[in-house]
Amino acid sequence: MDASMTRLVRRCAPAIFLLASTALGGVAATRDEPYVAAPTTYEVYAIRYATIPAFRVSGLIASADTSRRMDIAMMVWLLKGSDGRNVLVDAGFHREDFVRRWHPSEFVTPREAVARAGVEPDDISDVIISHVHWDHLDGIDLFPKARIWIQRDEFDHHLDSAGTVKDRAIDAGDAKLLAQIARDGRVMLVDGDGREIIPGITVYTGGKHTFASQFVAVRTTSGTVVVASDNAYLYENLARHVPIAQTLDAASNLRAQARMLSLASDPRLIVPGHDPEVFVRFPAPGNGVARIQ
Ligand SMILES: [Zn+2]
Repeated sequence: MDASMTRLVRRCAPAIFLLASTALGGVAATRDEPYVAAPTTYEVYAIRYATIPAFRVSGLIASADTSRRMDIAMMVWLLKGSDGRNVLVDAGFHREDFVRRWHPSEFVTPREAVARAGVEPDDISDVIISHVHWDHLDGIDLFPKARIWIQRDEFDHHLDSAGTVKDRAIDAGDAKLLAQIARDGRVMLVDGDGREIIPGITVYTGGKHTFASQFVAVRTTSGTVVVASDNAYLYENLARHVPIAQTLDAASNLRAQARMLSLASDPRLIVPGHDPEVFVRFPAPGNGVARIQ
């Protein structure tokens, strides 16, 4: 390459770089800042903290045979950001009365379970609550440094600022706890559908498991992963296009499931709320932790 050619390449390289990075969705470089930060991506992990044995499948799949039983997985989902942020979807449960009432096997607190995935629970910066049921909300006090994200309509429908229960879908103790954390200034209320609440993490409503339940789409290096939580209990809901058994609006639930399929880069990247099959399809790294990729 002669000298003039070298000069030409030097002159053009930043423009090519700028074009490429803009096409990838990056921020356009300025003259002062020639390097573009890559958009944040996440590693997504399903983490199992308990099993509830012999659960009635008809409680999960609308119109399922009432004799069917299944050992269901109790999970939280960890989103490990390339920017060092650690986000949890749902917080599981740990209070004594729930453990006594539901007889979970292989129970560890969600805090211990998160540590198994190699993250210090105090390093969880954010917890996104999909809905207010006890097995998803009760553990919020296990992550004392985290901001708690929940739909404003979900909060306002179920409790007031004093923690008084307005709809019994929320446990009374959990309502008091959530209200206290809100008074401490750590609750972030989300205003509706399609909100990118954290870079690379967008929440969607319409699943109608509860009044304003939400599901989560996450940017990963394998494409978009959808954490459905209980808006799709099992893979069977998605594969057979059957609504969940516990829904306020079956048609809305089916629309939300169809939307999950359109948002996810691949149907296998949708993670249902209680399906033990998650740990069969994604066996690594193991010990109750499944990387979704
Ligand atoms: Zn659940």
